Amino acid sequence: MVFKPNTGQDGDLQATCVPFTLFPSVVPYSVLEQAYHCQTDFNTLMYLVAQDDLFLEQSLRSVIKVDAFVRGLWDIYKKVREEGITQPVSLDLFRNDFMINMATERPIEKGLIPSLSSLQLKQIEFNTISASFAGLIGATSRLHKYTLNLARKSYASKQMPDNDPAYGMAVGLVKAWEIYAKPSAVILFLVSSVETNSIDQRHLEFKVHDLNPSIRVIRRTFLDIYSRAELTKDMTLVIDNTEVAIVYFRTGYSDESYPSDKEWKARLLMERSRAIKCPTVQSQLSGFKKVQQELARPGAVERFISDPAAVNRIRSTFAGLYTLDMGPEGDESVRLAITSPSQYVLKPQREGGGHNIYGNEIKILLEKIGSSSEREAYILMERIFPLTEKNYLIKSGVPFTLSDVVSELGIYGVYIGDGGKEVINTHCGHMLRTKLQGINEGGIVAGFAALDTPFVA
Ligand code: ADP
Ligand code: MG
Ligand code: MG
Repeated sequence: MVFKPNTGQDGDLQATCVPFTLFPSVVPYSVLEQAYHCQTDFNTLMYLVAQDDLFLEQSLRSVIKVDAFVRGLWDIYKKVREEGITQPVSLDLFRNDFMINMATERPIEKGLIPSLSSLQLKQIEFNTISASFAGLIGATSRLHKYTLNLARKSYASKQMPDNDPAYGMAVGLVKAWEIYAKPSAVILFLVSSVETNSIDQRHLEFKVHDLNPSIRVIRRTFLDIYSRAELTKDMTLVIDNTEVAIVYFRTGYSDESYPSDKEWKARLLMERSRAIKCPTVQSQLSGFKKVQQELARPGAVERFISDPAAVNRIRSTFAGLYTLDMGPEGDESVRLAITSPSQYVLKPQREGGGHNIYGNEIKILLEKIGSSSEREAYILMERIFPLTEKNYLIKSGVPFTLSDVVSELGIYGVYIGDGGKEVINTHCGHMLRTKLQGINEGGIVAGFAALDTPFVA
């Protein structure tokens, strides 16, 4: 359970234990069930969104104008679409993130134990690229069984369910490799040169190996692709004399991954190729928060999903989501946010934690940019006030005490599509991340949260 803190040094070998909680945190059975139950609905929804040019374009139009990163990806998508998609098969390894909202005002502060009916599962975001911690989270369940035992706490096996999402993801990678049907072709993990989370990624690589030792996994950076990869006449992706069956992106989700034109050119080359992408650029685009907000509009989910029960499972997890596009609707969102900033989160189109804006800073920013198109880079989201529990966060070099903590639950999903049709659609495990109450942001690599597991009660 280690990762490498970002020292900014290429090839730095220093590793440290990833932050974790001493004990599991309680998650009600009904809530965990609900999160699992809607995962395949969400997988289908997000796959179909990525296939719908018009919906993507309408949803992202305003953001594309003001956000160079989204525009860069959109331009690649446009080029690939115009040239003609060479690989109809796509692989998605998703993670759908939720918090458990307390519908009644802060019962714990009032000394009340929240009732089950006051707990609501609310989606925070849907990750379509580089969903992480599927590897390291497997070890956290084993660790927590051990610490519970040390503390002489007994539990039933269903309270501490086995959880190995990396296995399910590896099954997806292997299945996509089989569909590519070229035994000598490899799976390429696209990683950054200063990679903090390579050990999490290695778990996935080893599980691919366990499933089929003849599959070779190679790790390359954008600059490796830029300088040494090429497309053959039939758009096969080749690097270092090796054909690539699958490109699995563990980088490329933020503007920092593209410091120069070289990285953008490398991305375009991969997208044009007939390697199977995980994810495709259009799947990455569908994961932007702007799309999440547009999907919350009446009729939007229904455009993709006809089963009313599935629509209901999806919609019931939506928090309030508000556009900041120019026009009366966006003006109203600005007014709402300035009037009660503590009730909202302002979100730009970024991944990896540490980018959102909270509280009074929302007010300050919107008073500055609230009447200009700069606001279109953001969406406004209802703030979730999650269930508070007690736990210890263990972080290397930091003294620990029993603290008030809150958790975020992620469900992993695997989807393989072929030209609009479903080939595989499953969920394959969960992760829990826990942070001190009162800390706004979430990520583990970003330094805010610790790995945790649900104690199902
Ligand atoms: P990212 O793609 O950067 O992870 P998120 O939408 O997941 O962006 O936001 C980062 C973190 O901010 C989350 O892990 C969560 O802790 C917190 N957060 C996001 N949205 C909300 C919300 N609506 N209410 C409360 N906290 C939120
Ligand atoms: Mg994200
Ligand atoms: Mg997140």
